[in-house]
Amino acid sequence: MRKMSEVIHRPKKRLFIALILISLFVTAVSTYGIWMVSFPGLSNISTHLPLILGSLLAIALFAIVSGVVGIVLAILGFPTLHFFRRIAWSTVNILFPMATMIGRLFDVEKEKVERSFIEVSNHLNRQKHHKIAPEKLLILTPHCIQNDACLHKITRDAANCRSCGRCQVGDLLNLSRKYGVNLAIVTGGTLARKVVKSLRPHAILAIACERDLTSGIQDVFPLPVIGILNERPSGPCCNTRVDMEQVEQAIRGFLEGDL
Ligand code: SF4
Repeated sequence: MRKMSEVIHRPKKRLFIALILISLFVTAVSTYGIWMVSFPGLSNISTHLPLILGSLLAIALFAIVSGVVGIVLAILGFPTLHFFRRIAWSTVNILFPMATMIGRLFDVEKEKVERSFIEVSNHLNRQKHHKIAPEKLLILTPHCIQNDACLHKITRDAANCRSCGRCQVGDLLNLSRKYGVNLAIVTGGTLARKVVKSLRPHAILAIACERDLTSGIQDVFPLPVIGILNERPSGPCCNTRVDMEQVEQAIRGFLEGDL
């Protein structure tokens, strides 16, 4: 059986790293610009103020640089401290909007940047070899995976699915029963947050589109998430599908500590 690392294509990580590095450069230049512009006004008020502002900006910039270095080192496989990873993730959250904007300037579509981000996130989580008890693992997927003609209320309880085979909800339910893991099918981010709050999982296997996975991964940090992109043969948000082999492989990876 294939490993997760083989299923998700690796080269995509480079795009995100490149955009984050450009964002870092833009941030550094802008920070220096802010300091230079405010210098005359501040020194008129007090000769100490430019130095104080300069020090604060330098500390903020140093933290962001450390975060970017942390991400790059972790991706290259170097061991990094937990604290360092936290800074790295905060940096991603700060620089991500700028990275997508810069991507647009280079004609890179937002979804491509998001896919690259998801790949980076999956890679960092795989490196940690999380071993999760079945009852602490949550499979989370949006309800667009349900056949749009189905009348069963699976968002209230996935067990309401009759496994008729018209969509993959039955397959996900079978997997959740086979491995004893939780399955939640949600209508949106608010319900997803509610489920996470009530179940308190130690890890999440999230199935969604680029946008929802990106925001979801950032929302629940530091909870480990493996994101699996859904397939949209009928267009967005309608009768979506997922590669069940990837899902089962990720479940097994989490349970065995070998993602
Ligand atoms: S598999 Fe379940 S959710 Fe999907 S159409 Fe059949 S009963 Fe409805």
